[in-house]
Amino acid sequence: VFSFPVLMTTPSPRATRPRHIRCPKNQGRPTRDTGRVSGAVVEADGQEIVVRASVVVMATGSWLRDWDGTAPGTDAPTIRPAKGVHIALPWLKIRNTSSLTFQVPGQKTPATITRWGDSVLVGTTDTEYTGDLDHVGCTADDADVLLHAVTSSFDTDVSAADIQGSIAGTRPLVARSNAKNTAEIPRSSEVRTDPDGLVSILGGKLTIGRHMGMQGIDAAEKVLGVQRRCRTADTPILGAAGYDEASFTASGGWEDHLAERYGTESRFVSQIMADDPAMREPIVAGQPYLAAEVVYAARHEMAHTVDDVLARRTRLRLFARDASDGAARRVAGLMAPELGWTPQQVDHQVAAYHEAIQTERQLLTTNTEAQA
Ligand SMILES: Cc1cc2nc3c(=O)[nH]c(=O)nc-3n(C[C@H](O)[C@H](O)[C@H](O)COP(=O)(O)OP(=O)(O)OC[C@H]3O[C@@H](n4cnc5c(N)ncnc54)[C@H](O)[C@@H]3O)c2cc1C
Repeated sequence: VFSFPVLMTTPSPRATRPRHIRCPKNQGRPTRDTGRVSGAVVEADGQEIVVRASVVVMATGSWLRDWDGTAPGTDAPTIRPAKGVHIALPWLKIRNTSSLTFQVPGQKTPATITRWGDSVLVGTTDTEYTGDLDHVGCTADDADVLLHAVTSSFDTDVSAADIQGSIAGTRPLVARSNAKNTAEIPRSSEVRTDPDGLVSILGGKLTIGRHMGMQGIDAAEKVLGVQRRCRTADTPILGAAGYDEASFTASGGWEDHLAERYGTESRFVSQIMADDPAMREPIVAGQPYLAAEVVYAARHEMAHTVDDVLARRTRLRLFARDASDGAARRVAGLMAPELGWTPQQVDHQVAAYHEAIQTERQLLTTNTEAQA
């Protein structure tokens, strides 16, 4: 079974050395043999590879909007991306003791504010997005909506200068209706199988991701002509088997921090620290993420860029954007031996991260968003 964007058959990330698999933008398409899908053309580590597979599953979220690889004569799925942003603010400016839902002036759906360490995460917005899906960012207007909502609901003088970081993404909504705005479109999911055997998983939410995965597997097995019960419902997610939250909480300190992030897999991060005590150093002073987590991310979590580590494997870009920029070279240095980077590649990674942070800062003041 081949699935965009991940191989469904991939076992624990520790089992194999990850490869950076990406289908060329707007071109990644299944190959077809006598009208049936027979595999896909993908790009891995800069090389174009033709993968043969008995069944291909498209799970590319919002990017399906720009994809035109549906077989001729078959209606293409229509995805209407809805942009949403979150901003991080200092917790001291709000001092909320629980997560709260509150009204956003001029918006139907409420926002939430959640404490995360010394920060709070405020979101979200829900707006039509027609721009470049690879460059979605939080604009000054997006941030203003949330800041205004916060100052309308809480006794605080929080302003744009307090934003510690921002994050933006798009929800892949299935556009069945002519809804006036994206907030009206249901967040339902759909699994479809085209006459050529291509399975696509559309829409949905993270909270029903496992259910969508089950439906996708069932559809793929139908294409393969096998009858087997999907095991997803009884399979714990990585790090969940045998997880005992109370005992980790009782341990406290970095053991608690690692367990909260990796579950029982935290033992592999601890091993990196046992092998080299320098790995116990935080990546950014005052933030909980440790050098060992960078190595783990490169070694076992398919992190291939400094941004992968700082923005996605950890949340340093969101909660400490400016300080994370300062840590980019150290992070690149930790990743280099894992991924075999040359000094030039290290420089390139640092420069790319610096540029991304500059763009994020600029967008928060200028509103200029990339176009599709
Ligand atoms: C602001 C915001 C708040 C949200 N809040 C919630 C919430 O509270 N609860 C909830 O359940 N859900 C929430 N969601 C929705 C949830 O994030 C999405 O529904 C979910 O991420 C969709 O998952 P997906 O796997 O279908 O798509 P994605 O997570 O978008 O994954 C698609 C992947 O495909 C990759 N890709 C695209 N094209 C190619 C290609 N050609 N080759 C290779 N790879 C490709 C992309 O890089 C991407 O990694 C929220 C979304 C947003 C934006």
